[in-house]
This record gives sequence, structure tokens and C-alpha cells, in this order.
Amino acid sequence: MSLTRCGACGVPKRIAFMHRWRDDGILESRLGGSRGILVEREVFAGALDHIGETLGVPIDHIIIDAKRRDAKLYVDDVVSGITGAIARLRPFRRLGYLIMIRQAAMIGLAKARLLSYKPGIRFVGRVSSVYHPVLFVGDVCGAFESLEGKRCRPVYGQIGDVWYLELYVDDNLPKEERLELERTPEAPARAGFDRCGTCGVPLGVGNFHWDVAQGKIMDETTGEWIIYIDVEGLNTILRELERELGEEIPFMVSRFSFETYRKLIGSHPSYLGNLSFMKVRGFGIPDSDNPSREELEAGVAVRNPFNAPMVAGMVAAVSGGEGADFDWETPEPGVLLVRVRG
Ligand SMILES: [Zn+2]
Repeated sequence: MSLTRCGACGVPKRIAFMHRWRDDGILESRLGGSRGILVEREVFAGALDHIGETLGVPIDHIIIDAKRRDAKLYVDDVVSGITGAIARLRPFRRLGYLIMIRQAAMIGLAKARLLSYKPGIRFVGRVSSVYHPVLFVGDVCGAFESLEGKRCRPVYGQIGDVWYLELYVDDNLPKEERLELERTPEAPARAGFDRCGTCGVPLGVGNFHWDVAQGKIMDETTGEWIIYIDVEGLNTILRELERELGEEIPFMVSRFSFETYRKLIGSHPSYLGNLSFMKVRGFGIPDSDNPSREELEAGVAVRNPFNAPMVAGMVAAVSGGEGADFDWETPEPGVLLVRVRG
């Protein structure tokens, strides 16, 4: 698969067409209007693995259930109207899955293939490079339940580097209430983007390389795998984990975000030298890119943060030292105050 790129900044035209970088720092899909971020795969997927390993309890079922319900709403929105009605007709449903597989590769989630499919009965697929196998099982279950209009049961496993996934319709599973999503409140903010004169995407996004053949987005400076992920889904999964496992979850997530960015800063100190990198990613708009020690102790405000613990961890990692101590609060909706000491 090849992509037509913007002649000026190199960002694929399809990415520019599908997403909007708003002046208030919110990055959103033009199609359904849902908010997203461009984040290091490790910061989110690694945090989930870290939670499971640290607490020593199985969490796959919580992750799959929350992701499945979020992905179903996403596909309900994206594949809607007359096109949606046609895509759900038996002869066209396979095409619906192929479009979703291409979409997953576009946003850096996975290199997936449909192996076998019987409409209304069964779906078998394989995935050889995937942002997080368990999250992806949730994604595929959600797409299946949206396109088939039926609940399903997943079976999945790994052979070498390849994951196999089978979904079966299960009419005995209960119908469910609509998932309550975690919408982020919005506050006025100004990102002050320098935009590409040709496609309008903020400069800086061109530093990412969209490798659709491998289903990855790569940060060309750090070599890190970047994913585009839906903010409501991410926040819903973290909320469900906190409900099931306890209130230490946000603290664990913030420390993990801090440590992951500290490692990246160690190898790329100038690239992540201040907080300005957060804006093009859709993370939120800090009041100051280079806060002073006094400002850090009093608290740096971040407007339109996508997730409080993750943003607090990255602000402390970039602005504080190796052993920085930090906490955060939300003084008003859409504004996060991060205090950093050390
Ligand atoms: Zn451009």
C-alpha cells in the first residue's frame, strides 16, 4: 500500500483529510468528531502491561470489555447512514472488515489480515505487528458487533510473533446498556500552530513516518512506535481498571508515563527539551513551554489535557529532574494543574 503525501510537509494526504488539529489543541477525527492523540505505543500499551504485572491479577477481560464497547460505538459512528446500511448487508460486510483493517494500519495499530469469514457466524484473522494484542482483540470484537449486530465471544492466542483471533456469534451473551464514555471537558486555549501552507497540518507532524505496510507510525527522531488512539476509549479503559482494581491505578499510570518519558529524554534531550512537543500530539496546551522552578512548584496549567495522570507524568518528566516528585489537580473543567518539585 502506498500513500500520496503532501509535497510540502510529507504527511500523507489521507491523514490530513481525516483529522483536524484544532487551534485549541484538540486533535479530532473529521468523520465522527471523536478526540484522538498521537502517543508512544509504550506509554499506553506498556502502562496496561505494567498494571497487570505489578498487581499480579488478570486484567485482559476488563481491557477487552471496555475496548470492545468503545470500538463498537466508534464503528457505529463511522459506518453510519446509507453507507452504513449498505456495509451491513451480507455481501458487503467483508468489505467493511477490510476497510477497518486498512484503517488500523493507517493509524499505527496493527498489520492484520482476514483469514476466513462467514457472515453472521464467524470471523478469523491474524495480526503480526500489533500495538497491544488484547486491546486489538477488543477493537475487532467491537467492529464485529457493530457490523453483525450481534454479540460475540473471542478466542485468541499467539504462535511465534503472530496472534490469531477467532470470533464466534454468541446469542446467549446478554444485551447491554450503552457504554458511558469519558468525554474530556473543553476549555479555551491557543496552540499557536505553525501550519503547512499546503495541507494545513501543523509542522512537526511531518516528523512521523506512516508505515502502512507494517501498520506502524514511527517517530523519525526517537525511533519510537507511535499510535493514534481515541481519547474516550483510553480514558474509559483506565476508568474501568480503577473501578475494578482500586484508586492506585491513576498513580501507577502517572509514574509509568513519567518513567517512559524520562528514558526518551535521556536519549533525545533536545527533541524533548521542553513541553512544546505536547501540542501537535493532541496532549494539551501548557501555559508555558519552559516553566521556571517557581512556576513548577506553584503549578503549570495544561489546557485541554487528554488524561490527567499521563499528562502530569510527562510534564514532570520533561520539566523536572530524574527524581522529580509531582502531583496534580483539576481546578476547573478542561484545566489541569501539575506541581513539580525537584
Ligand atoms: Zn503539508
